[in-house]
Amino acid sequence: MSATVVETRLGRGGEDRPVVVIGAGPAGLAAAEHLLDAGVRVVVLDGAPQVGGLSRSVQLWGERYDLGPHSFYSSSHPESVRRWLDLAGAAGGVERTVARRGAVWRGRAVAFPPGPRDVLRAVGPAGALTLAASRTAARLPARRAGAAPRTAHEALVARHGRAVVEELFVPYCRKYLGVGPQQLSAAFADKLLGTRAGFSGPVELLTPARGTGAVWEELARRLRERGARILLGTAVTGLSTEDGRISAVTARDADGESTLPVRAVVSSVPPPLLLRWLPGAGTPPAPGAGLPPLRSRDTHLVHLLVEGEVGQDAHYVTAYDESLRVGRLTNTRAWRPRRFAGAPRTVLCAEFWSSGDDDLAARSDSELAQLAVAELPALGVDRGVRVVDCDVLRLPRSVPVLSLGHEAVLADVDERLDAYPNLVRVGRHGRHDWDGQEDSLLTGRSIGAHVLQLPA
Ligand SMILES: Cc1cc2nc3c(=O)[nH]c(=O)nc-3n(C[C@H](O)[C@H](O)[C@H](O)COP(=O)(O)OP(=O)(O)OC[C@H]3O[C@@H](n4cnc5c(N)ncnc54)[C@H](O)[C@@H]3O)c2cc1C
Repeated sequence: MSATVVETRLGRGGEDRPVVVIGAGPAGLAAAEHLLDAGVRVVVLDGAPQVGGLSRSVQLWGERYDLGPHSFYSSSHPESVRRWLDLAGAAGGVERTVARRGAVWRGRAVAFPPGPRDVLRAVGPAGALTLAASRTAARLPARRAGAAPRTAHEALVARHGRAVVEELFVPYCRKYLGVGPQQLSAAFADKLLGTRAGFSGPVELLTPARGTGAVWEELARRLRERGARILLGTAVTGLSTEDGRISAVTARDADGESTLPVRAVVSSVPPPLLLRWLPGAGTPPAPGAGLPPLRSRDTHLVHLLVEGEVGQDAHYVTAYDESLRVGRLTNTRAWRPRRFAGAPRTVLCAEFWSSGDDDLAARSDSELAQLAVAELPALGVDRGVRVVDCDVLRLPRSVPVLSLGHEAVLADVDERLDAYPNLVRVGRHGRHDWDGQEDSLLTGRSIGAHVLQLPA
C-alpha cells in the first residue's frame, strides 16, 4: 500500500504526528478531549462501528437501550457530574429517579436493603438476631481500629459484619466474579462500597432519555467539530517502536491494514494486548510465576420484550441466591419512566456472568433466553407474563476482576509498559479497574502532562 493511501486513510496528510487514542469508549473520548484542550492533534481509533464502548446504546424494537441500563450517580465526583450533565443535556435530556433495589435471598424476592420483616421471613428470628449482632460487633471501636484489610472479605466484614457477608456478599462475589471475596483484593470492596453502588441509603440515578450511548455520541460530535479524527471500524493490530518509544500504530479497517506514525499513544485496551503488540516488552507473568493472571469476566445480556407491565418495578433485582443463574434483572421502565410512560410493552434485561469456559458460555442464545424467562417469577416478575421477543448480547471480558494479588501483576505490567515514555493507559481495561463512567470522565485528566508536551 502506498504511503499516500496510508496517510489519507488515517489522516496523516503531511501534518504533525498526532497522538493516537485507542478506543472510542468513555475513557478514550475523555482523553481525546483533554488532548484537544491542550492543542494537540488527535486521532481516535476504534474497531467497533460506533462510539461509546461498553457505554454504547443499541437499537432494539424501535428504541435505544444500553448494555444493561447505564446510569450516572448524582453522588459521583462533582466535576464528572457537571461534565456528564452538560453532555447528557445536549443529547436529549436526563431522567432522574431514586433507585429501587430488590434482591433474591434464600429463594425470596425482597426489597434491598431488606427491611426487618424481609429479614425475619428469610432467616427466621434466630438468624435475624445473628445478623444484627454481627453488624453491631463490626461497628465496635475496638474492631474498627484493627489492621487495614487485605482481602475484600476482611473489608466487607469490617463494614457489615461476618454474618451479613456470608449471607449476601460471598454468593454475590462467586456469581459475579467467579470467586469468593477471600480471593478478591480489598480494593474491590472499596469500589463496591463506594459511591457507585452504595448499599444503603437513597441513591439518585441519572439516566439519559435517549440511552447512555447518546452522551458519548455527543462528546464525539463535539470532538470532531474541534478537529479530532475518530475512525470507527478501525481496529489497532500492532505498535512499532524506535529508540525506546512508540513510533507508529498499525490498524485494520474494511480496506486493509495501514500504519500511522505517532507522537504518543493513549490506550484504553487491556495491558496484555499491549504486551502482545510490543514484543520487546515481554509477556504477562506466566502461570506458576507466583502471580495470578489479570482476569476478566464475560457478561451475557438477555433483553426480553414483555407484554404490559410486569409486577416487578425495581430498577434492579440482584439475585444473591445461587440457586438462580441470573445475576441481575433490570426493568428499563424504572430507569426512564417518562420515556416509557404508557408504553404497551416492557423491556427487561437479565444479566448472566461467566468466565467463558462454563456452561453459561456454552449455551446457545435461545437456551440462555429460555433460562432467563424460566427464572423471571423467582425474581418477582408476575407469573404468566407474555414474552414476545428476546435478544442476546455477549460482552466478552467486560468485568475486570480485582483478584487478590492483582496489584503485583499490575506493578509488573507497569514496569514493562512505563518503559515507553509516550504510552499511557486509561479506563476500565487500560488500568484493569472496576471503573464506571464517572472514572472515565476523569481519566482524560490523568494521562500525564508529559504527553501534552511531547514534541510533534
Ligand atoms: C453490564 C454493564 C453495566 C454497566 N453499568 C454501568 C452503570 O450503570 N454506570 C456506569 O457508570 N458504568 C457502568 N458500567 C461500566 C461502564 O460501561 C464502563 O466503565 C465504561 O464504558 C468504560 O469505559 P472505557 O472507555 O474505559 O472502556 P470501554 O467502554 O470498554 O471502551 C473501550 C473501547 O476500546 C475499543 N477497542 C478494543 N480493542 C480495540 C482495538 N484493538 N482497536 C481499537 N479499539 C479497540 C472497544 O471497541 C471499545 O469501544 C457497566 C458495564 C457493564 C459491562
